[in-house]
Amino acid sequence: MNVPLLDLKAQYQTIKEEINKALLKVAESQYFILGPEVQKLEETIAKAIGAKKAVGVSSGTDALLIALMALDIKPGDEVIVPTYSFFATAGVVARMNAIPVFVDIDPVTFNIDPAKIEEKISGKTKAIIPVHLYGQSADMKPIMEIAKKHNLQVIEDGAQAITAQYKDGSYVGTIGDIGCFSFFPSKNLGGFGDGGMVVTMDEELGEKLRILRVHGGKPKYYHKIIGGNFRLDAIQAAVLNVKFPHLKDWSEGRRKNAGLYTQAFIESGLAEAEGITEFDDNNKVLLPKAVYKENGIREYHIYNQYVIRVNKRDELKAFLKENDIATEIYYPVPFHKQECFNGLESSKDDYPVADFAAAHSLALPVYPELSGEQIEYVVEKIKEFLK
Ligand SMILES: *Cc1c(COP(=O)(O)O)cnc(C)c1O
Repeated sequence: MNVPLLDLKAQYQTIKEEINKALLKVAESQYFILGPEVQKLEETIAKAIGAKKAVGVSSGTDALLIALMALDIKPGDEVIVPTYSFFATAGVVARMNAIPVFVDIDPVTFNIDPAKIEEKISGKTKAIIPVHLYGQSADMKPIMEIAKKHNLQVIEDGAQAITAQYKDGSYVGTIGDIGCFSFFPSKNLGGFGDGGMVVTMDEELGEKLRILRVHGGKPKYYHKIIGGNFRLDAIQAAVLNVKFPHLKDWSEGRRKNAGLYTQAFIESGLAEAEGITEFDDNNKVLLPKAVYKENGIREYHIYNQYVIRVNKRDELKAFLKENDIATEIYYPVPFHKQECFNGLESSKDDYPVADFAAAHSLALPVYPELSGEQIEYVVEKIKEFLK
């Protein structure tokens, strides 16, 4: 049995006619830059997640970059980021000539550990970028309290988590000052190329983001501020407008598959019921889990990735590959170990949880079109390897 990490062709087959029609419509209109499709997508997403303003941009990375620009992050300012994320989270900070300051992650969720943030705050700290890794909200309540106490801005990196919800029901991206999303094809809502979005609850900030997106000019050719070309293409917006109504079903499909994995791992004796054990056993796997709960309400995890932790990870990955099962490591090198960040003060600190995650984590295929048989096959093969 072949189990790819993602099967975008299968998804395309289910919406092919609608997508092709939308693409043709853009071709006929020859209207490529911003315009009605982009506006429609912005309005749809703002409404769906309860944001005041949404601004379509050129990628998830540019969403983070334009957010830092809008919040006036200056050279030498410090910005707190988890040390375990996709490179862009820290890369954008360095590109602003600001200084990324790393914080270790929570051992269960892999999200920034709020208890370790305050010790990293200095007089130069201006912002925190929590990441909602794998589609699971970071623990925003303590993060927002810390931000308020120290007068810091919060940029949410929701690139993997569009429409995920925190335990109080808030959609990620609407809790901090600015929320950032990516439409990279492998995200839950993926375009036919690069794209992204920034959202905010602050009208004024929304207007500033809109101006920064077109080089900072308003009116056109008159520049009070310096922005860049951060525009979302009409063609991407047209595709995303077709896809967005399906997003809920796709996320539900991923959640269902995550549940099937978890159940199969527990039934096979490879994991404890609650999913979290001390990691002392060569023959066990640690499972991901939705953990944030309040008044009986659980967070809404959208499982952009289903990531287990396991000993002999690299050998397991190779064994699964031999059996036609694709997996991926998100991420093999935390920021504090990246060569380009060698010179940073905070690279010298210890991050045992992130180091552990980098050495043990393995993402299994969890895309919505995956079948129950494929999931059983994956768990069976993992069991075969571990026993
Ligand atoms: C994908 C991703 C980004 C960057 O998004 P692009 O659209 O690829 O630029 C940023 N942060 C995280 C956590 C991501 O997963």
